Amino acid sequence: MPKLPLKVSAKIKNAKPDSGLPLASPMDSETMGQVLDTLDSTYDLHPMGELTRNNPYKVLVACVLSLRTKDEVMIPASQRLFAVADTPQKMVGLSPETIEKLVFPVGFYKTKAQSIIDFSQKLLDDFGGQVPDTIDALLTLKGVGRKTANLVVGLGHGLPAICVDTHVHRICNRLGYIQTRTPEETEMVLREKLPAPYWSVINTVMVLHGQQTCKPIGPRCDVCPVAQWCHKIDVKPRAVKQPKPAQKG
Ligand code: SF4
Repeated sequence: MPKLPLKVSAKIKNAKPDSGLPLASPMDSETMGQVLDTLDSTYDLHPMGELTRNNPYKVLVACVLSLRTKDEVMIPASQRLFAVADTPQKMVGLSPETIEKLVFPVGFYKTKAQSIIDFSQKLLDDFGGQVPDTIDALLTLKGVGRKTANLVVGLGHGLPAICVDTHVHRICNRLGYIQTRTPEETEMVLREKLPAPYWSVINTVMVLHGQQTCKPIGPRCDVCPVAQWCHKIDVKPRAVKQPKPAQKG
């Protein structure tokens, strides 16, 4: 990070949450731990965990299907596909058209069907039919980006990995735990800062929190279980209508 001039960095250090000035990470890791514990006990398990049950191949396929697709569409589509093929061996025996029909209406279903066949074949050719457990190896598979690779390592293999998507990036910045501009930068900063026991849980709880409470527009700060710790950086909470006072008759 570039060094700031002394005067500016002093101002930032002392900035108040609503001052409009950037803050020097006002939330420490201990508080972030309280936030994540609270969110973890607030929301039920993300359906991805139920669906894939620590099976790296299912995590990989479900993740690819989930890109630009809502969970309500991805979950039943994945279930239909896994009922027919849940291993690379079985998957390459299906035609692209069969997979397309099974996963429709997920977004980009034709492209995703072909990607699933391609990376399943590569798993058989180059990895003995097993899903690798390193980010670098996973990134060699067609259609697999950093987000999916991290989720496969963390959720599929149970190894330390931080999966940063738009929810993790947005909420960590709003909380004031980090100050980053892109999800990639967020991943790197969290790897430095976030205690390892929270690596595997952060994505699951923040996806749910981002979908249900800390929404991109009009976050529901008035009912948020972690509002007491949040610095609400650049946040415009939803407007809450106050009940009209009862008229005296
Ligand atoms: S208080 Fe508001 S901005 Fe902060 S985490 Fe909760 S919903 Fe998000």
